[in-house]
Amino acid sequence: MRKLLRLLGLAKGNCLNCEKPTVGEEFLCEDCLKELKPQHPMEYTHIPYVFSYRVFGRYEGAIKSLILNAKFENNPYTARFLGKVVKDYLWQYINEIQPDIITFPELNIRRFWLRGFNQVEEILKGAEVPYQRIFERKGFDPPMVKLKSQERLKAVQSHQVRRQWLYALEDKKILVVDDVLTTGQTISHLCQMLLSLGAKETHALFIARSV
Ligand SMILES: [Zn+2]
Repeated sequence: MRKLLRLLGLAKGNCLNCEKPTVGEEFLCEDCLKELKPQHPMEYTHIPYVFSYRVFGRYEGAIKSLILNAKFENNPYTARFLGKVVKDYLWQYINEIQPDIITFPELNIRRFWLRGFNQVEEILKGAEVPYQRIFERKGFDPPMVKLKSQERLKAVQSHQVRRQWLYALEDKKILVVDDVLTTGQTISHLCQMLLSLGAKETHALFIARSV
């Protein structure tokens, strides 16, 4: 019950992950903060149309608590906080691949309306990473987790490139940032779309991979 209250943001002053008391306005206790480090080694399997990608950590523990809180308790501050945590890791990769454009997948309209913000956008703000919104979504598909794979594919395909970007991607190196890597289907489809519009290279970065 206490955990539920915490996740609902009703009880303050305790760690979002383990409920131990926190210092000041922190979302996590000192132990859970220490847990937030890039995890190595991690196994990388090929994702079609993605030239290279990186994953900060596993979708468990403190990272999972922060992402769930941002997503389902409509708390953009936990997403910003997560952005600060991954900032160095993100910038290291950005410096390595030198992308021309950094972007992220869009939420469907209904979800964006319910949440009021895009958690990946807030993570990028927290990490002080400049980004462009090159995708847009059509339609009102339900949350991904509840979809069967065929429906999931349909939801993925509702992504489009915004009109003003259609002719602006040629020869560009593009980095797509997303929060959780599960099947890789979404990112693969997005990168395929970018390459078909003339992008030179597509790379991806995820905050966490589902375990
Ligand atoms: Zn904790």
